[in-house]
Amino acid sequence: HAVREGSIERTKTVCTYCGVGCSFEVWTKGRHILKVEPTHGPANGVSTCVKGKFGWDYVAAKERLTTPLIREGATFRKATWNEALAFVARRLRELAAESGPDALGFIASSKCTNEEAFLMQKLARSVIGTNNVDNCSRYCQSPATMGLWRTVGYGGDSGSISDIEAAGLVIAIGTNTAESHPVLATRVKRAHKLRGQRLVVVDVREHEMARRADLFVRPTPGTDFVWLSAIAKYILDEQLEDKAFLEQHVNGLDEFRASLAPWTLERAQDITGVPAETLKRLAHEIVDADGTCVLWAMGVTQQRGGSETSTAISNLLLVTGNYMRPGAGSYPLRGHNNVQGASDMGAMPNFVGGYQRVDDPEVRAKFEAAWNVSLPTTKGLDNHEMVHAIHDGKLRGLYLKGEDMGLVDANVNVVEAAFEKLDFFVVQDVFFSHTASFADVVLPASPSLEKDGTFTNTERRIQRLYEVLAPLGESRPDWRIIQGVANALGANWQYEHPGEIMAEIASLVPLYAGVTYERLAGFASLQWPVAHDGTDTPLLFTNGFPFPDGKAQLYPARFIEPLEPPDDTFDLHLNNGRMLEHFHEGNMTFKTEGIASRAPDTFVEVGLELAEERGLESGRFVRLVSRHGAVKVRVLVTNRVSGNILYMPMNARSAEDAVNRLTGSHTDLSTHTPAYKDVAVRMELLPVK
Ligand code: SF4
Repeated sequence: HAVREGSIERTKTVCTYCGVGCSFEVWTKGRHILKVEPTHGPANGVSTCVKGKFGWDYVAAKERLTTPLIREGATFRKATWNEALAFVARRLRELAAESGPDALGFIASSKCTNEEAFLMQKLARSVIGTNNVDNCSRYCQSPATMGLWRTVGYGGDSGSISDIEAAGLVIAIGTNTAESHPVLATRVKRAHKLRGQRLVVVDVREHEMARRADLFVRPTPGTDFVWLSAIAKYILDEQLEDKAFLEQHVNGLDEFRASLAPWTLERAQDITGVPAETLKRLAHEIVDADGTCVLWAMGVTQQRGGSETSTAISNLLLVTGNYMRPGAGSYPLRGHNNVQGASDMGAMPNFVGGYQRVDDPEVRAKFEAAWNVSLPTTKGLDNHEMVHAIHDGKLRGLYLKGEDMGLVDANVNVVEAAFEKLDFFVVQDVFFSHTASFADVVLPASPSLEKDGTFTNTERRIQRLYEVLAPLGESRPDWRIIQGVANALGANWQYEHPGEIMAEIASLVPLYAGVTYERLAGFASLQWPVAHDGTDTPLLFTNGFPFPDGKAQLYPARFIEPLEPPDDTFDLHLNNGRMLEHFHEGNMTFKTEGIASRAPDTFVEVGLELAEERGLESGRFVRLVSRHGAVKVRVLVTNRVSGNILYMPMNARSAEDAVNRLTGSHTDLSTHTPAYKDVAVRMELLPVK
């Protein structure tokens, strides 16, 4: 879908900057990007945000990697692809021979395509023989997926973005939607303004959506599980539940009701700081609404109890009958463009594609027959476990693509120390990232505008992207590089185009059974599960839940308290997250002039009262010190935060200023997603120069 008009070409692609999955045409003249034009994207219509519209200069940045690099002492030298691939294969083979295949780890990227995630896990499993493979959704959304698996059986948004727009009530918990998922937020804002949709925002920070809300609730950090459980208990105690829905479609009510016994409104008020009357009001908002959608993101998931709280959200939706119909349901908002897809593709240690378990002999037999190999039988290591296995000397080689792990993983001091201990480290990226500085080999990858493939957005929508520009220099699309590594290791992969990889995915992954490139041509899209005949599923569960008796499961969850509440030594809570202008750590957006000039560096938000108490003004440098590290950062005084709560964006120009110098190694107990939001600091004023 490249249309040429004279010397100008228009090519359809899908935005890489968040899970909304906006699609648009990019107008180019030679390698020059003239403009981005959304025409009729299935997720975005004619809208984009600032990143989608203006965020593409980085593709031509002088910092782009254009040749493979091999370490020589403290520096790197340029290498040919043949030399680099042969070297990677030799070292991987040597380490596997010395210490076994499980001495190697593979990390795919949620920025890359489905086809690339599929090949990364295929390389790990079928060529190396390890299930040590994961992707960066481990850093954000795995707890949401866990909560949904437990209760409704599919780990994805239960409906479409259009359902969110059609709901009577939207509850947004721990999601800064206007900045993290801007086009989706626009649709909520529109429904709120024009259609009278009710909006409740629950967050520790008063961001734009909180200011627009009919009800803004600000609980003590890390206590969402408590108020969600108290509301569910109140609804059941007052017999306000959807009895017919529970009777017909849900198991486990008695055990669930018993598990709620501790969560009275009064106790919830004590723990969360939210008045019992407010919680009652929120309960009635849900009961009275014509359909409730709950949106949640990393404020919920990046906690020690992220999976438990995600479970509590889904439980509450079940109790109130908010599944199986339009305008209702659960919407974990996926952060990166392909968080959903990278997990769907089996770039996870316990699942091959489509959440089919690696320890299920029937599943393995299917993949073994297709790939003509024996596959490893037990669960591998996730990202978090890999870092610790490196420190323990059990993991000796790591192949990482598309993630600046030394900036975005939690407690990067520990992560960097792990990188130093590796016997062999391959980093595949568009830029020479901070993480790449620890590598033995750096492989130059092409960004999304220089490749074909598919992404799966937050509403399970699979869309094609087409090559807008040829790969710069000698950079290559990730799927070609992975194929090169596999073949240098002795495989005989012959994929000429990502469409052939998708054909293999469709044959092995039932959720994608009917996905073909033809059915995704141009702006066409499909939402999984996709049947063989191409019928897709905009709204899940209309024929019941994917459990043996077709019923959903109320799952008794438990409250897991934060590990680092503020105390006398570390007296401030440090919240952290995204900002509108930047994508994640900022590797791409800092290299895009129009964006970098709007948001040139990181900062820490300090509330008005705290600023006055400490004698601070905007622009002053402070040192933040946690149990895990310290950063020097500029203050921004704002009324978005209050009390002893600070906020710092996750993007940073320098690795020394990254918020993850401060975060710890504690994680969600079920999924090992880092508890980024559970960190206490103290603030030291630095002298004014
Ligand atoms: Fe890209 Fe997300 Fe903005 Fe859409 S909302 S243009 S997908 S960053």
